[in-house]
Amino acid sequence: MHELSVVNSLIELCEQNAKANDAQKVIKVEVKIGKLSGIEPHFLQLTFDTFKEKTICENAKLLVNIQEVIIECLSCGFQGTLKNNEFICEKCGGNDVRVVDGEDMVLMRLEME
Ligand SMILES: [Zn+2]
Repeated sequence: MHELSVVNSLIELCEQNAKANDAQKVIKVEVKIGKLSGIEPHFLQLTFDTFKEKTICENAKLLVNIQEVIIECLSCGFQGTLKNNEFICEKCGGNDVRVVDGEDMVLMRLEME
């Protein structure tokens, strides 16, 4: 179960941040999930709510933002949103593109008390 290990490391990250900031609890966790990450937002919510108990995130609300896939063309430098899952530059038509965003989950913001 992919989401379980994701939630585990997310809660771990929250604990580290809270400790570093002398916070007693986390009240809000904001993440962005890349469309290519393979993480299902609804399932992530459920898993988070299940496993946050007895952790520093016990009363935390998880806010999930979806990150579109951004590709960069290595030939002409164009950057844009991936459309129709086609890894082709829409400017020059080249296929020498790389993904610059939307591949993984990133912790955006933490609210602590
Ligand atoms: Zn291009």
